[in-house]
Amino acid sequence: MKKEPVKAEELGAQVRSKTFDEVVKGYCESDALKEAARCIQCKNPTCSSGCPVGIDIKTFINKITKNDYKGAYLTIREKSNFPSICGRVCPAEYQCRKACVFTKKGSPFASNEAINIHFLERFAGDYGMSNNLDVATKRDEKLSKMKVAVIGSGPAGLACAGELARHGIQVTIFEGLHKTGGVLRYGIPPFRMPRTILDFEIDSLKKMGVKFIPNYLIGKARTIKELFSDGYAAIFLGLGAGIPSFLGIKGENLCNIYSANEFLTRVNLMSAYKFPEFHTPVNIGKHIIVIGGGNTAMDAARAALRLQKMNDIPADTTILYRRTEVEMPARRLEIEHAREEGVKFQFLVKPEEFLGDDKGFVRKIKCLKCELGEPDSSGRRRPVEIKGSEFESDCDMAVIAVGLKANELLTKVTPELKLDKYGDVIVDKETMLTSIDGVFAGGDIVGGEGTVIEAMGMAKRASRAIVNYLLKR
Ligand code: FAD
Repeated sequence: MKKEPVKAEELGAQVRSKTFDEVVKGYCESDALKEAARCIQCKNPTCSSGCPVGIDIKTFINKITKNDYKGAYLTIREKSNFPSICGRVCPAEYQCRKACVFTKKGSPFASNEAINIHFLERFAGDYGMSNNLDVATKRDEKLSKMKVAVIGSGPAGLACAGELARHGIQVTIFEGLHKTGGVLRYGIPPFRMPRTILDFEIDSLKKMGVKFIPNYLIGKARTIKELFSDGYAAIFLGLGAGIPSFLGIKGENLCNIYSANEFLTRVNLMSAYKFPEFHTPVNIGKHIIVIGGGNTAMDAARAALRLQKMNDIPADTTILYRRTEVEMPARRLEIEHAREEGVKFQFLVKPEEFLGDDKGFVRKIKCLKCELGEPDSSGRRRPVEIKGSEFESDCDMAVIAVGLKANELLTKVTPELKLDKYGDVIVDKETMLTSIDGVFAGGDIVGGEGTVIEAMGMAKRASRAIVNYLLKR
C-alpha cells in the first residue's frame, strides 16, 4: 500500500506572519507512528552517516513504531544532547534526510520523499521533555571535587556543561550577555524555536548543579590564567562566531541599516517585537531590504516582515542575493516559509551603494545585476556582474546578513591560544584540546559558522577529553 510522507501541521501563513508564535507544530502521536512506519529499517542504513553526531536513526525510529518513546528518546540522547532543539533547527535536508535511502532510490511505497527524521526526532525529544526523562548520571568521587569553567552558553557550552555535570563535575558557565542560550536565544527567532524549550533545557542543567554567571565577559572581567588560579581545573571555550561581516560599500553607515546580529538581538533577545511592553525598539521601514542567502537572512526577513504586519505597515520585505535560489545556503523549509509569508526574493543582484537623505537615513539602494560564472572554491557558481546593469530600489531599512566571524575579545588577550587565519581557535580534532594545556574549545569558534548539532557534537567530544584530562590529574 502506498504510504505518503506525513506532513507536520503548520500555522497558516496569513496568521503566523503577524505573530512570533511557532510556525511548525510537529507531529502528534498518530502522525509520528504513521511516519515511523514508512521507514523500511534498511539492513545497512545510510541515514546515520548524514548525521554529524551519528545518531542511531534506524533504532530510534524502530522504537517509535513500537510505542517505546522513552527508548527512542534515550537512543537519540546517546549522541545528541537536545533532541527537541535539533528536531526543530537541524538542516535535515542536507544531513540525515539527504542520506536516507529514499532520497537515493525512491521509496518502495511509491513515495520519493525521505523519512521526516527531524520531525520524528522532535516528537521523541518533546516526549522526553514532557516526561522529564534524562540519561543516567555517572557520578565520580574524584571528579565531583573538581571545577570546570565553560565560556559561552550557546549550544556548545550547554552541551559540554551537561555532559560534565553528569559526571558530578562542578561546572560554571560564564556568559557575556544578560541571558543564556547563545544564538538559540538571540539569533533564531521564537517562531522557529520557542523559548520554553531552551528555558527547559537550561533549567534542567541548573537542577543538575550547573551554575550560570551572566553579564560576565571572560577576557575583560577575568582572563583564562585567572580562571585557572580561581581553581578551575579545565576550561571549555564555546565562544561562537558573534561578529557580523559587512559589505564594505558606500553608505553602509547610514541610519536604519542594521547588521543581522543587531537586528535579531533587538528582536529576539530584547523582545523588540513586544515594544513598548519591552523597552528596546527597532525602527521598522516601509521598504525593507535584507541582503544574504543563509538562515540568518531568512530569519531577519521573516522577523522584519512580521514587524511590518504587526505595526500595520503594508508588507514589503525583499531578500537580495547575488546568486540564484539553487545556491542559497538557507534551509529549503525556511525559504519556502519566507515566501509563503510574503517575503520577496531578488536573485542575481549585488548591492553597490546605499543612498541617504539629508538627515543621514537610508532611502535607496543601488545594485548591479549579475549572471552565474564558473564555480568558485565553495563549488557554487560565482556571481559575475553585468556591466551597465545598475538600478535603484526604495529602501528605508536594510539588514546585512552576509556572514559572521569570531569575536576577538578573549582571544586577543590570550596570546598563547593558537588561531587560524580567520581568528578561529585551532584544536586537536579528536580531543578539542587547544594550544593551552587544560583549555578545550568547540562550536563556531572552531572552524567558523556551523550548525547547532555540529557545535554539540564538538562539545561532546571535548567533554569526554576533559573527563580523561581530569582523571589523569
Ligand atoms: P553561540 O550560539 O554563538 O554561543 C556563543 C555564546 O558565547 C554567546 O552567548 C556569546 O555571548 C558567548 N560569548 C562569546 N564570547 C564570550 C566571552 N568572552 N565571555 C563570555 N561569553 C562569551 N544552525 C542550525 O543548525 N540550524 C539553524 O536553523 C540555524 N539558524 C541560525 C540562524 C541564525 C540567525 C544564526 C546566527 C545562526 C544559525 N545557525 C543555525 C547556526 C547555529 O546557531 C550556530 O552554529 C550555533 O549556535 C553555534 O553554537 P556555539 O555554542 O558555538 O555559539
